[in-house]
Amino acid sequence: MRILLVEDSSMASSSSRETLEQLGLDLEHADSLSTAIELVTKEDFDGILLDLDLKDSSGIGTLIELREYAHGIPIVIYTQRKERDQALQVIKYGAQDYLLKGEVPETSVLRCLRHSVERNKVELELHKHQERIQAILDNSYDAFISLDSKMRITDWNKQAEETFGRTKAEVLGRNMAIIIPHHLRRQYLRQTEKVFNQSDASILKLSSEITAAHKDGREFPVEIGFFRVRENTDYSFCAFLRDISERQRFKEELERQVQERTEHLTQQNELLKQFAKIASHDLQEPLRAVQGFANLLADSTRGKLDKDQEEFIGFIMDGTTRMQNLIRAILLHSESGKVEDGKHATDCNSVLNEVLANLSTSIKESEATFELDRLPRVAVQRLHLIQLFQNMVSNAIKYRGTEPPLISITAEENATQWLFSVRDNGIGIDHKYANKIFDMFARLHGKSQYPGTGMGLAICKRIVTSHGGNIWVESTPGDGSIFFFTLPAIEKVRRKAMKDNIEILLVEDTPSDVRLTQEALKRSDLKYEMHVVNDGEEAMEHLIRLKESHQDLPDVILLDLNMPRKNGHEVLAEIKNDSVLRAIPVVLLTVSENDEDVLEALKLKMNYYIAKPVSAPKLTALLSSIHQLHKESPEESKAFSQDETRIRLVLAGNQHTAPIALTRLAADANDRVRCRVAENPRTPAGVLMKLSEDASAEVRLGVSENPNTPETVLEALSKDVSDDVRLGLASNHKLPQRLLENLAEDENIYVAAAAQKTLATLTQRV
Ligand code: ADP
Repeated sequence: MRILLVEDSSMASSSSRETLEQLGLDLEHADSLSTAIELVTKEDFDGILLDLDLKDSSGIGTLIELREYAHGIPIVIYTQRKERDQALQVIKYGAQDYLLKGEVPETSVLRCLRHSVERNKVELELHKHQERIQAILDNSYDAFISLDSKMRITDWNKQAEETFGRTKAEVLGRNMAIIIPHHLRRQYLRQTEKVFNQSDASILKLSSEITAAHKDGREFPVEIGFFRVRENTDYSFCAFLRDISERQRFKEELERQVQERTEHLTQQNELLKQFAKIASHDLQEPLRAVQGFANLLADSTRGKLDKDQEEFIGFIMDGTTRMQNLIRAILLHSESGKVEDGKHATDCNSVLNEVLANLSTSIKESEATFELDRLPRVAVQRLHLIQLFQNMVSNAIKYRGTEPPLISITAEENATQWLFSVRDNGIGIDHKYANKIFDMFARLHGKSQYPGTGMGLAICKRIVTSHGGNIWVESTPGDGSIFFFTLPAIEKVRRKAMKDNIEILLVEDTPSDVRLTQEALKRSDLKYEMHVVNDGEEAMEHLIRLKESHQDLPDVILLDLNMPRKNGHEVLAEIKNDSVLRAIPVVLLTVSENDEDVLEALKLKMNYYIAKPVSAPKLTALLSSIHQLHKESPEESKAFSQDETRIRLVLAGNQHTAPIALTRLAADANDRVRCRVAENPRTPAGVLMKLSEDASAEVRLGVSENPNTPETVLEALSKDVSDDVRLGLASNHKLPQRLLENLAEDENIYVAAAAQKTLATLTQRV
């Protein structure tokens, strides 16, 4: 402890000084106020021992003057004066203590100095802390008010002055009610009391929107966070308030605009309906008359007209038929926008069978062949689905190339929707018409080349979009097209799936392994219920029974591989082929991680595996990851353990991870996880689209390398702000030439050079 001893009497000073130094103090001496001031401004001291009577100053003035220079250094008075008044006065002027020279032993002086230094440190800290809090409150965008137990205002920051138009001096000590309009005071008071009476927690928070009053009488909405803090036996309160008039106005304006737009749309719809009515009746009437008289004319003049005249009549009849087809298509279009009650569950497989039967003649003539996935049931009316698939398939046949048509139809589940694709090997569509073809009457060919009205895809689009879906095409002229569209999935049987309690189905025939798994679960911190079946056959019976009686399915299946009757592989294949059961994550219990069984299981679209013996930490990490990924509403803020992160990384990169899990993983907080999802060829197109706008350039780079990224997304990425992303694309040999050519002119020379190199290798190959 370094102490400055300020004292005049050389005798006294040398004796006390010696004793104090022997006690371990590091002492510096000043015999006048001016020397003391000079020393404290130059050097650091932990404390000052001060005699008030010096040769150049005496009495309380000495303390007052020295304090001006000795900021933050505790001062203990050490004097011969025994006046009580003076003792009180020096404490008032900030001295830590008052010691009498000669009467207090040096050991006590030392103790007193130590206490003063400590106390001073704490006080300084406290002061700093208070200053910090005050600065935060003063600079807060929220108005801050603190209140005592009787709701009298004890603090009021600058923002509160501005928000309520009252200065701090004006409100201190007054009741909080002054910021509430008169007519609302009783009501708010009652509500607040009611909430606070319900609990005696030491901190209680209440937040709501209320109406406040400005000093000028203006009323305005505020958002208030109200805290009650227990202090000893009483409570004090504080409140943060924010003026939300602007936000409210914005919300009201938005609502007004939405309403205006809705009214406008309703009007437009009404007009469209009337138009459809006119089309169906009024337009068809004269058309029928023209058709009827043209037929009569043709009959009555048969053989009497020359060739030209007969041809003219032929044109009239042809024109009327085309007109009739157009009118019918318009009618269908207006009908296809009607969305039903959403309770439909139509099986797309049977729809497709009907469509193929309807088109059997053209299928036979064109020798078309089909590759069909097993299709799901969707929440769309049957008639609309028939129109949709029939347009898609008939176009694939109509716009065929030189080879007989090969048409493949697939469906993939994605969160709440199904993504369908209809691929053909036909003439394809130029990229620049990819959006236009979905417009009404849009056609790319003359009628003599390909007959049609140009309404087919417009009807498809109306059906898809009115169910909240999307439709788009990817195509290379000459190489065929893929039409993609999304449709809503039906409400799944697994509604309640993955609540807090995990329901586990264990399929295992070895009693000791059953026991081991049970013990591992008991030791985990999971909340679970487990049902055990002893072989594959029993497992399938159990699952089918649950499904058919619409009971809750298990949240996860733990499946052993080697079982009698039906082994794990067979069970897995059956589960994955069932449109409902396949949503359940399956964990394979394998004997070793490198086992051939694992590879076999991977082929069978296994979700996860765990090597035996099953232990509590392994199982907890795996099950909580699965639980997190598959349950309805993920907790966003959950922090993952290292094990869980590793599992999520593995899952994100695994081609057999369910699309719903990939969709969740795409929102993972960890960049590496999102990056793997972006690279995974199994990731649904919609998710890739979203990831292409991810904040992390690594993730966007992943999307650019994914073989299934739609061309429109690649195009957007080729203009990405990150040089790395563009560089990655420029080196991608699979990128369409058009985009490579754009990149070859990139402003970044490395990107441009890479693109030129890729283009050069491509041309060489050709
Ligand atoms: P339509 O077939 O009656 O002309 P659509 O609305 O069904 O009308 O299709 C619009 C245009 O889109 C077609 O004229 C055709 O040029 C193009 N088109 C549609 N499907 C395909 C396809 N599978 N392959 C190539 N072009 C297609």
